Amino acid sequence: MTAGASDRLRVYLDGSWYDLTDLKHPGGDEVLRLARGHDASMLFEEAGHKASTRKRMEKYRVKDKDLPPPTDVPFTEVTRNESVLKWECPLIKNWFVDPRDFHLSGFLFEMFMVTALKLVAFYMDASHLVCAVLFLLGQLWTPRVISFGHMSTHRNMFKHWAQAFLCRDVGNIIYGMPLGVYRLHHVVMHHTDNNAEGRDLSSTMAYRRDSPLHFLHYWGRFVGFVYIELPLYAIRKGWYRDASKAFFGHLSQFVMAYVAYGYRPTAALWFFGLQYLVMMTILMCGNWAEHIFIDPRRPFDSEGHTYIALDTPANGFTLNEGFHLLHHLHPKLHYANYPQTMALYAANIKGTLEFRGLDFFEIALFCFTGQYEKLAKHSNLDAKELQRRAVTQFDQFGKVIKAA
Ligand SMILES: [Zn+2]
Repeated sequence: MTAGASDRLRVYLDGSWYDLTDLKHPGGDEVLRLARGHDASMLFEEAGHKASTRKRMEKYRVKDKDLPPPTDVPFTEVTRNESVLKWECPLIKNWFVDPRDFHLSGFLFEMFMVTALKLVAFYMDASHLVCAVLFLLGQLWTPRVISFGHMSTHRNMFKHWAQAFLCRDVGNIIYGMPLGVYRLHHVVMHHTDNNAEGRDLSSTMAYRRDSPLHFLHYWGRFVGFVYIELPLYAIRKGWYRDASKAFFGHLSQFVMAYVAYGYRPTAALWFFGLQYLVMMTILMCGNWAEHIFIDPRRPFDSEGHTYIALDTPANGFTLNEGFHLLHHLHPKLHYANYPQTMALYAANIKGTLEFRGLDFFEIALFCFTGQYEKLAKHSNLDAKELQRRAVTQFDQFGKVIKAA
């Protein structure tokens, strides 16, 4: 019998099988199920486990020498994304720990050059037209600012904290993301509470997700109340430091915008006010679209509330965000590894919702306009099932409160 065919949950790590059926994985059991019956060495490595974890795993090692190793093609190469202008900036390149992130140096340099132009416009009290042009130009980098902020918050990319602060945090503030908020809202809350209604403030479960009006409610709640709701969320958990970071992060963003407005109202309106709204809208739109289809059979499983969007240019200018299911199963996995990870563990995520040739925003747009037949043409589910998953609303226990 092969290890994969057994009832036991076994994974292969550096030359041995481990029986992890009884292991309660701190990051959730989903990642174990992803690797079931396969070589999990790369996943284990990418998670950044300590040497002590390896020691504690010893008791799970399978003694049966007759179990053959998996027939997987070992994971060796990685794919790479390129910067907007496809170059690496020698000035910043050496700040990164991992060569797979070197290409981000070009993107960062370009982003800060546009920011420098905005600063000049601000200083010279430029007209609405000039500010609008610079504002629109800056949006070319917004998707990657978000993706880069996302991935670099999940796993440290830089050699020194000051480099991370300058590239990620200052970059985020310029693009309208308050300091000290994203980690708590996304990495801690959204990933731990995994889109669950009543726990994750950004949950989509209770909404009718094909309704623009419901989205407006979702967006309004976030824009209007996140600076109160997020600190309260942290206080309920007893995380007082996180609560104050979230509160003062928002406050400092608003104070900065207010002071800038008093000094240069035209530029402040475009570069602070509008940019903040654009950032908040894209963030919420992205999260909504990523969790727009929920399978009533498993609303709390990542495989039940998110999907994979392949073969779309968006995966090039974001950092493979289309592989969102993999990201939920293994949040620390490097974005460059997604395509091969998909191929390696395909058998364990068979049947999960998948789109080809559409990105998140196109998927949400087709959903809002009721074009399920069109969506189905790009997906492995039929139009009726897609609609069922978009309209069914759930309570905090995963019970259906409103179906089609
Ligand atoms: Zn994430």
